[in-house]
Amino acid sequence: MPLKGTIVVDDNLCKACELCIGNCPQEVIGLDMDRITPRGFHPATLIAEGCTGCGICAIVCPEAAITVYREEPHKAAVKA
Ligand code: SF4
Ligand code: SF4
Repeated sequence: MPLKGTIVVDDNLCKACELCIGNCPQEVIGLDMDRITPRGFHPATLIAEGCTGCGICAIVCPEAAITVYREEPHKAAVKA
């Protein structure tokens, strides 16, 4: 079962530098053109399914704006 994750971007910190977008191996981050942050940027956001919770986006973000949540893989059912 593939790992599943999600991210939350802090609008108060994101400066739309797009580093997370360029470094996401799943290519599931984009800028949200429908929203403007208090600092006047279009913030990064998940744009598709497929985040694995790898954490790379959070590591490369210079503003530490991203929190990554990872779903624990379910244990395989034990057969009798
Ligand atoms: S945790 Fe990994 S897969 Fe998910 S958005 Fe960030 S870089 Fe992409
Ligand atoms: S790397 Fe951080 S500051 Fe840059 S666009 Fe992504 S969330 Fe925003």
